Amino acid sequence: MTLHIPFENTYVKLPNRLFSLQKPYPVRDPKLLAFNQPLADTLGITGTNDAQELAQVFSGTVLPEGATPIAQLYAGHQFGNWNPQLGDGRAVLLGESNGYDIQLKGSGPTPYARRGDGRAWLGPVLREYVVSEAMHALGIPTTRALAAVETGEEIMRDRPLPGAVLTRVAASHLRVGTFQALAASQDTEGLQSLMEYACARHYPEAGTPAAFLKAVVQRQAQLVAKWMSVGFIHGVMNTDNCAISGETIDYGPCAYMDTFHPGQVFSSIDRHGRYAYGNQPQIIAWNMAQLATSLLPLEDNSDQAVEEFTHIINEMPGSLRHHWQGHFAAKLGLSETTASDEALITQLLAIMTEQKADFTNSFRHLTDASVPETGLTSHNDYAVWHAQWTARKTEQSSDPEDLMCQTNPYIIPRNHQIEAMISQAVSGDYTLFHHLNTALEKPFDTMAGHADLTTPPTAEEKVTQTFCGT
Ligand code: AMP
Ligand code: MG
Repeated sequence: MTLHIPFENTYVKLPNRLFSLQKPYPVRDPKLLAFNQPLADTLGITGTNDAQELAQVFSGTVLPEGATPIAQLYAGHQFGNWNPQLGDGRAVLLGESNGYDIQLKGSGPTPYARRGDGRAWLGPVLREYVVSEAMHALGIPTTRALAAVETGEEIMRDRPLPGAVLTRVAASHLRVGTFQALAASQDTEGLQSLMEYACARHYPEAGTPAAFLKAVVQRQAQLVAKWMSVGFIHGVMNTDNCAISGETIDYGPCAYMDTFHPGQVFSSIDRHGRYAYGNQPQIIAWNMAQLATSLLPLEDNSDQAVEEFTHIINEMPGSLRHHWQGHFAAKLGLSETTASDEALITQLLAIMTEQKADFTNSFRHLTDASVPETGLTSHNDYAVWHAQWTARKTEQSSDPEDLMCQTNPYIIPRNHQIEAMISQAVSGDYTLFHHLNTALEKPFDTMAGHADLTTPPTAEEKVTQTFCGT
């Protein structure tokens, strides 16, 4: 084997009730669909020239030297309902490389699979590859995609579909739900080890549960504010899909909005709109309150801890709003924000809502005439808004246009294009997959060759529902 991954296996040194040793299952005929060489370089992986070997390793067919594959235990609140045992049902962590987790997703059932087959089909694998890499290119913390491999096996969903494995890379796969699992089983010792492990990997400056909580809250406030600024709807913000590192994790029914509406929901199972675009700031605070609750056993004086943790959680909405203002002000070219800028932002969003305007193109058009007008100018309030904005821009010391080009993407991975890419891939054609991947490496650059990706869906193309990636 020429491939070398400099594995460390730190998670397996934690109490063994936190995971199960689990090897991935070999697949029949692995074929490499994509390999992320720049990311492999970051991970210190060498000898990546043999596509067949990469396909074997990143489908779980051949175990790379130094890997100790495990499935991780976690619990979580799903749509607000407590589920005491979740865990990696179809994923195994091979180990860490240069500090990052390398995990195979879709590599066969684990002890946490419940009734699932442990597999993934091609659609969600390609979707996650494109969307997570686009997220990274947009400058938003996220898990990454190292490889996508077709298994050569059919798996059964509502019809037989091609199977695939995604290799996911994360700063870690620790979730709010990992802490919840230990707190729920009153495993204070395990909880202490887990917190120390999480601090060592992500928050070395945090020495106490309160400092740790505060650090996670800060990262999550920054993350959700960034999602909002690109019109991203996570879709399934359960506590098991909420990463301690502050990275976006779990690209199930997620979507970037085309037409702006604060109440937008795509997920087929989110019937009450719990995870609607505009609810995300409240939900992340709720998730952080669950993390706080699970950290309480680590404090001797629980009354004092409740008070301190409550204070940290109560400060989160203000902090998120501060980040939100900063991002949206930057989208309007304002680097130094003032209190009155919030009105400028909310007025524009209100106009967008009423005009059913495309979120990405509306912002981009403000600075890039190559993107067509989205219907805002015909709104009664637009001229006044535009005059106020223009006046406000002149007060800036730096160039608003530059800032706007760096904060308003030219392209995002639009749902209808992802769906078209998946249909094409199922028929064996990967042209759109590669086109999307290449174009989304530079989402802020205006390029004539990527103009097709700026087009919102037609009525027939519009995706109204997304599904969990099973
Ligand atoms: P998710 O919706 O991706 O957050 O998944 C929720 C839980 O279901 C996690 O514990 C997953 O590991 C598990 N799961 C999802 N799909 C499968 C599958 N095909 N086989 C086994 N477990 C699965
Ligand atoms: Mg999940």
